[in-house]
Amino acid sequence: MDIKILKEAALKFGTPIYLYDLKIIENQFDRLNKALSVLKNYKIHFAAKSLSNISILKFINKLGAGLDAVSIEEVMIGLKCGFNKNDIIYTPNGVSFEEIKKVFKLGVKINLDSIESIKDFVNEFGNQSITVRINPGIYAGGNNNVSVGHLESKFGITEDRMHELKDMEVKEKIKITGLHIHTGSDITNNNQFKEGIKKIFSIARDFKNIETIDLGGGIKIPYYDNDTSTNLNDYVEEVSKELNKFETKFNKKLKLIFEPGKFLVSDSGFLITQVNYIKSTSTKEFIQLNSGFNHLLRPNLYGSHHEVINLNNPEGRKKEYDVVGYICEKDTFAEKRKIPNTSKGDLICFRNAGAYCFNMASNYNSRPRPAEICFYKEKFHKIRKAEDLNDLLENQIDIFS
Ligand SMILES: *Cc1c(COP(=O)(O)O)cnc(C)c1O
Repeated sequence: MDIKILKEAALKFGTPIYLYDLKIIENQFDRLNKALSVLKNYKIHFAAKSLSNISILKFINKLGAGLDAVSIEEVMIGLKCGFNKNDIIYTPNGVSFEEIKKVFKLGVKINLDSIESIKDFVNEFGNQSITVRINPGIYAGGNNNVSVGHLESKFGITEDRMHELKDMEVKEKIKITGLHIHTGSDITNNNQFKEGIKKIFSIARDFKNIETIDLGGGIKIPYYDNDTSTNLNDYVEEVSKELNKFETKFNKKLKLIFEPGKFLVSDSGFLITQVNYIKSTSTKEFIQLNSGFNHLLRPNLYGSHHEVINLNNPEGRKKEYDVVGYICEKDTFAEKRKIPNTSKGDLICFRNAGAYCFNMASNYNSRPRPAEICFYKEKFHKIRKAEDLNDLLENQIDIFS
């Protein structure tokens, strides 16, 4: 996105703000479709948890995607945004059976990830068609928090319990029409993807009613120049190879599902902040911003890298800074980062602030969450108001009044 447009947004709406360029989401959607087109029968389901503003969801629905939802609230928001119930896949983890029941009754596709919850499901609803999430026993993903497909992880049904599932199907207690795998986010190593793909197709051989294979998300995009990323063509080639083997051997056609979050929206988002102070110590210079991990948690939570642009001096001579927030706790956006010479009042913008950024924001330190703005067809649109003091007090109950 043009520096000029980023600055214009800051002038128009103040800081901090989240800004999303819808064109970038559309381009990513087209790019993925192009890469997947050799597979013929597939659908892209956007992972709502990465960015769930209703205007963004409606836009992504219009592009032709389905939805991947992990909570009943995401399901309800998805329905409200116009997603067809058949195009919403609900993949909960550890939620109450009460919630699963409610979502099933909404007519949304249910993808369960434990034998325990499937047993409850069978008791309540009898022999239904469902899909299940497997745990492939693979360590994949950019960091420990987002690696969710290994044997120590709480996600999915591990291979050692797969016989229980087969047994239930043989006894006609349940019909397994699809398998799902999501091994993690930011998977750079294509071998990890390949292992997962091989595993899911090999498990699928044991289930005679299989119609869909859901390959989850996890596609890595670059965060800076020369950063690694998933090789989409390699990825699709591997899927295609395993799919063809399966379809030839069992003489039937499968539908494939992909659930990108980060790939579709990460690059579209920008968090624009302003410098309160440049603070010097004997060893360091801190850029102190009017924001913190209450607005952008990922660097503190995962050590994620977000490129920093000084919108007032984008090409200036670089110096080393620690870019920090105003939260009273360790609150570092970027450590020892080379950034063009920065002054008090400069606008500082973080890139890749589309996925898992606003959606992880909180009110810690009693700070309001910022506005969300989208840039669509050459115009800015406010898609969420900034919170204020009233919002912070709204749901609190004063028992001493
Ligand atoms: C989070 C999640 C995704 C999206 O992951 P990305 O790394 O953002 O692509 C997809 N499927 C499921 C089940 C998820 O939990």
